[in-house]
Amino acid sequence: MSGLRLMAVHAHPDDESSKGAATTAKYAAEGNDVLVVTLTGGERGSILNPAMDVPGILDRIDEVRREEMAEAARALGVRQHWLGFVDSGLPEGDPLPPLPEGSFALVPLEEATEALVRVVREFKPHVMTTYDENGGYPHPDHIMCHKVSVAAFEAAGDPERFPDAGAPWTPLKLYYDHGFSIQRMEVFAEEFERIGEPFPMQEWLDRFRAMAAERGDIMGRVTTQIECGKYFPQRDDALRAHATQIDPNGAFFAIPMEMQQRLWPTEEFELARTRVRTEIPETDLFAGIREDEDARTALEDTTR
Ligand SMILES: [Zn+2]
Repeated sequence: MSGLRLMAVHAHPDDESSKGAATTAKYAAEGNDVLVVTLTGGERGSILNPAMDVPGILDRIDEVRREEMAEAARALGVRQHWLGFVDSGLPEGDPLPPLPEGSFALVPLEEATEALVRVVREFKPHVMTTYDENGGYPHPDHIMCHKVSVAAFEAAGDPERFPDAGAPWTPLKLYYDHGFSIQRMEVFAEEFERIGEPFPMQEWLDRFRAMAAERGDIMGRVTTQIECGKYFPQRDDALRAHATQIDPNGAFFAIPMEMQQRLWPTEEFELARTRVRTEIPETDLFAGIREDEDARTALEDTTR
């Protein structure tokens, strides 16, 4: 069935290609309308690929990142919209320096929420995805992305909230992307051990183990696994499109495609809010919506 709409909300250009990317490619390929909303322009990302650290790139980094994003969206087969806020950068040091003036994480929540509500009311997603309260990883823009997405999910259908931001639309489900699963990493580590080769992501595995010791494995929160191994090559093309951000020789590409498709062909999500009845565990972000056509039609009628 086509005609369903999925909105993936992300903090920076390249996040859409590293978190839930193959899932968006799959839903788009299956005839659904998929929109990536990128909250900031990624202006403060440094050049993380040595091959791109050449004269002329940093001077026009804003433009370069827009070109990269367009290429990544093409690779995934999705549409993309910039919300227009300014990257906060990842503060480093002890104590942490203050965030730069005007950056996204300092924008009042109401203001950022209204901007996203406007896009939700225009695109009318049935399902939205974002990050959990930890941001997936502790970047101030990722935490802010979580807050704004949850607030927009709650407010978009309420005619009293942001009356100047379009006609109300009630999205039905909200998910958190959970890409950093230690279980997944352990499966690959075991496979490398079995074939007698050193595990190329040992550093990540150690970091994940430390994180899991603190918070427990993220798999404990996962409600929904989407089978999308067939779309991993598109995910990797999208990642490589962000040439200034992703080193093609780096850890992202260290696990052979065949091994990923065979041993862990899914992406993981946590159902955070739902307005339809569904059964956990799920294998479809639209579960409960596809079946409940009456509910969909009723919702569309009231908001048309
Ligand atoms: Zn990011």
